[in-house]
Amino acid sequence: MGPGMAVGEPLIELRDVNKHFGALHVLRDIDLTVGRGEVVVIIGPSGGGKSTLIRTINRLETVQSGSIVVDGRPLPEEGKELARLRAEVGMVFQSFNLFAHRTVLANVTLAQTKVRRRGKQDAERRARELLGRVGLADQAGKYPAQLSGGQQQRVAIARALAMDPQVMLFDEPTSALDPEMINEVLEVMQQLARDGMTMVVVTHEMGFARSAANRVVFMADGRIVEDRPPEEFFRAPESERARDFLSKIL
Ligand code: ADP
Ligand code: MG
Repeated sequence: MGPGMAVGEPLIELRDVNKHFGALHVLRDIDLTVGRGEVVVIIGPSGGGKSTLIRTINRLETVQSGSIVVDGRPLPEEGKELARLRAEVGMVFQSFNLFAHRTVLANVTLAQTKVRRRGKQDAERRARELLGRVGLADQAGKYPAQLSGGQQQRVAIARALAMDPQVMLFDEPTSALDPEMINEVLEVMQQLARDGMTMVVVTHEMGFARSAANRVVFMADGRIVEDRPPEEFFRAPESERARDFLSKIL
């Protein structure tokens, strides 16, 4: 979809979400709506709650209060319905978390057969198609350790896409990469955004935020401080916290 285009109905809705780790109040009164086809980039200082926020979207973290709705349904605490909704949410982490003792093809095939119950042939066909999409058609038979970091992260993206998720969450997907590999991963993400994937992306890559995001959410101390289109946010951040943050990273 990309900036400037119409955004669909809400796919994710967080209302008044609060989360504590013991005495630490890490998410404070979070309200966030992500429309279908929308790309939301979350930025902010380290420790501000960005990872915790996106991990609540598929209940990798439980919350103490508030509601989380995914695809029109309240996210349950556990059980079959949670498993079903989780399969709609793809996640890519800073560390690629590939299965080291499996080939690239097997990495992108496994969850399809186990969770989506696809036959092996269908799953492998879909895996090869996605490996082509991330520019790794010729690497299917290799093991993760034989690939560069940028290639491994692209395999991780293909693996998440293989579940046909409705939304993709990215938590600093390029932070562990050598500089020369960052762009190849960002380009895959840019293409996904152009293809209309709903995305929530925690990143320090401001170029990506400017060009791919419909909205920039600035988080600090567990709160959403600003939530605005990138052109507005970068031109004139409203809060002192955001101005201070931008002056340090730009
Ligand atoms: P960010 O991703 O913005 O750097 P996080 O969501 O990782 O922030 O962390 C927010 C706060 O919660 C930090 O103070 C962090 O130390 C704390 N925190 C994160 N995970 C845990 C955990 N599992 N147990 C206790 N504290 C945690
Ligand atoms: Mg984090």
